[in-house]
Amino acid sequence: MHNEQKMEKIVSLAKRKGFIYPSSLIYGGIAGFWDYGPLGVELKRNLEDLWWKTFVSSIPNIYGLDASLVMNRKVWEASGHTEGFADPTVICKECGKSFRADHLKENKCPDCGGGLGDEKQFNMMFETRVGATQDEDSKTYLRPETAQGIFVNFKNVLDSFSPKIPFGIAQIGKAFRNEISPRDFVFRSREFTQMEIEYFIEEKNWEKEFENWLEFMREWIEALGLKGVKEIEVLGDDLAHYSKKTIDFEYEFPFGEAELYGLAYRTDYDLKKHSEKSGEDLSYRPVEGEPFIPHVIEPTFGVDRTILALLSEHYNENEERGIWLSLPYKLAPYKIAVFPLLRNKPELIEKAQSIFAMLKKNIPEIVWDDNGNVGKRYRRQDEIGTPFCVTVDFETLEDSAVTVRDRDTMEQERVTIENLAEYLNNKLNV
Ligand code: ATP
Repeated sequence: MHNEQKMEKIVSLAKRKGFIYPSSLIYGGIAGFWDYGPLGVELKRNLEDLWWKTFVSSIPNIYGLDASLVMNRKVWEASGHTEGFADPTVICKECGKSFRADHLKENKCPDCGGGLGDEKQFNMMFETRVGATQDEDSKTYLRPETAQGIFVNFKNVLDSFSPKIPFGIAQIGKAFRNEISPRDFVFRSREFTQMEIEYFIEEKNWEKEFENWLEFMREWIEALGLKGVKEIEVLGDDLAHYSKKTIDFEYEFPFGEAELYGLAYRTDYDLKKHSEKSGEDLSYRPVEGEPFIPHVIEPTFGVDRTILALLSEHYNENEERGIWLSLPYKLAPYKIAVFPLLRNKPELIEKAQSIFAMLKKNIPEIVWDDNGNVGKRYRRQDEIGTPFCVTVDFETLEDSAVTVRDRDTMEQERVTIENLAEYLNNKLNV
């Protein structure tokens, strides 16, 4: 499939089926902002839960956090964002549109071909005011990354838990960047969600810890079924000012290869800066030896880019079946759909309802569908990636068994009602 076409199909499916809608659509939308609909929010929640389980609950030395989106302005002065979180921008002299200078292939407007003005640095933080005074002092920013919320809570976590190094603090949350040209669906948005860990280490161990995290990230990518992800070391001028080593994980999106995740060795840059600026001692006191400011390995995962990668990777289409999403079971918004063969036969409806209620106790992400014929229902569930469909037919009333249809193999199997919950549980928990 032509890639541009694929992107259009994904955007259209996402909207039609209630995964992702353009924000404020009835007012013409707003560039770079998206709303997650009923299925999107399930997919997003499943993804975030899986991440939390993988990287936080299953690892004893990782602590969770949910810091505020708006922080003291001094945080951003210390971190260097006020000064340096800027992208080079050019404005077209003809149509007035802005573009990232470093994303342009030619020295003319990609939209209208017009001449471009001088390059300027544009700070991407969204400004806001706190309180009623609305003067310069009340100015601060929506956070452009979740990481700083972690650094400013480093001392709190040390004081509450006395963790031993190495340990990490993890957070899932929104970040805001006033991107010059938001594009490629949710890939480059102005409001997005990050899942990040700051893993505090001793400097001498950074290479070993970096390698460990590289491996964890590879395993995560494999668990999502994302294929062909490339690891690219960021070199020279492209390396962020705080980093000594960064590896970008690049995925082949329909619009081209681009950054999905990053792994950075941020040294002790941030904690040092916050120590200096706040006057608080942010060093760690080991049982033996001198206190020191820990170094940091930062694995960062964009939620929205993951969702786009998942929709792209697991999008399938052919003449016979139409569209089906082969999402990993753990991420599918619904795990099971239950159908009564016909919607106007009370005995079938009653039986199907009792099976639905029984399954829901064990597997809450279940949906009822009695619209159209069974073929249409399969298509509808395929489009949203539901792994199993259960049909209750007239035979069920005789033999107490149902037909279970598998999304990926399309095979149908007769399973007794007695064994149904266990059967589905076993399948879903592979
Ligand atoms: P890019 O170079 O693509 O602008 P970045 O290197 O600035 O990205 P980071 O600062 O490393 O990105 O942000 C960490 C993660 O947050 C990225 O790996 C990505 O998954 C996600 N991310 C960053 N910017 C955006 C955005 N505008 N929209 C959606 N996700 C984003």
